[in-house]
Amino acid sequence: MPINRSIVHMDLDTFFVSCERLLDDRLKSKPILIGGTSDRGVVASCSYETRLFGIHSGMPMRMAKMLCPEAVIIRGNTANYSKFSNVVTDIVKENAPVFEKTSIDEFYIDLTGMDKFYGCKKLANEIRSKIIKETGLPISFGLSENKTVSKIATGEAKPNNKLEIDYGVEKSFLSPLSVKKIPMIGDKTYQELRSLGVRVIKTIQEMPLELMERVFGKNGSVMWKKANGIDNSPVVQHNERKSVSTERTFEKDTIDVVKLKTLLTAMSEDLAFQLRKGSKLTSCVSVKIRYSDFNTYTLQQKIPYTSSDHVLIPVILSLFERLYKRRLLIRLIGVKYSNLVNGCFQMSLFEDTLKYYNLYASVDHLRQRFGDRSVVRASGFGAKTIGRADNPFNGNAPLLLANRKQ
Ligand SMILES: [Mg+2]
Repeated sequence: MPINRSIVHMDLDTFFVSCERLLDDRLKSKPILIGGTSDRGVVASCSYETRLFGIHSGMPMRMAKMLCPEAVIIRGNTANYSKFSNVVTDIVKENAPVFEKTSIDEFYIDLTGMDKFYGCKKLANEIRSKIIKETGLPISFGLSENKTVSKIATGEAKPNNKLEIDYGVEKSFLSPLSVKKIPMIGDKTYQELRSLGVRVIKTIQEMPLELMERVFGKNGSVMWKKANGIDNSPVVQHNERKSVSTERTFEKDTIDVVKLKTLLTAMSEDLAFQLRKGSKLTSCVSVKIRYSDFNTYTLQQKIPYTSSDHVLIPVILSLFERLYKRRLLIRLIGVKYSNLVNGCFQMSLFEDTLKYYNLYASVDHLRQRFGDRSVVRASGFGAKTIGRADNPFNGNAPLLLANRKQ
């Protein structure tokens, strides 16, 4: 007989807003918008009070200001949010046997076999209470047999609550909910489903699997399974396959610093592009050099979560400058981004604006169409093709900030 699994999904409520309120309690219960503060900025996060005005993340800041003029507007601070996120991660790490951090404010925890189901409920509650007590941040969770049902349950539990879905009632829990609540269904698929007259999950449950496959292909069968509360995907332990890296061995050892920096810039860009393509952010970068005598050195640095070239490149170049001390010929250089989590790169652009967002979006679009090296910044020009065109992160459907429930 298969073992019943116990999977918890935990998600901090309006995470950026909650962090700001911890730092300044005058902000409690005020409507708050976080994001680029200029007129061309984008809302990265907003408090529940602003949602009554129809505001959501991803909306232009100018429009949000018009809808709710009394809102307090705050330029986000990734360094602060990363710090709070790490504190929460440490608490989860201390108390959970297997967990996966999927974004800056979101975790899956596998409690299978910890106890009978009641024991798992108790443990999930204890972890949540501990986080609230030790950090002051509100957090919600869903507990069920699998990731999909638990994630949807968290959404239904919010704000600052929990929801447990017992074995056998997954389908009936899902059936009255909008199909929009299924994590993989974005705006486009939602519109397609609506045009077929499908609004609630129950309708998909009653459709034959073959029909969903015929209309939506392979995605259709995944959607059908999720709608029926079926999801076998495992909780992947934190830090497994959570990095991207690239390195280059020279045909002839070199001491040409300009050439080395040009190549490092190109490598940093390519890896950042891979991050954005997979909707990932990094919080740790490292540079490796191997001298002609085969001595190898690496230097790493923790940084606030980002996937932006203009943030990453200066860090990589300064690491290289600190590392390259021996004035010996270099045989190999490498760049690595690790501690990856899911997340949209908009959040690393608080001080910037829609302009940067659009710039990266169009650069990435060209790269997708014409290949990785079709668009490179001038300083990286001339480096040969490195990196890959395919998405290195299999399976995880990219979550846009705009579609996220916080
Ligand atoms: Mg959240």
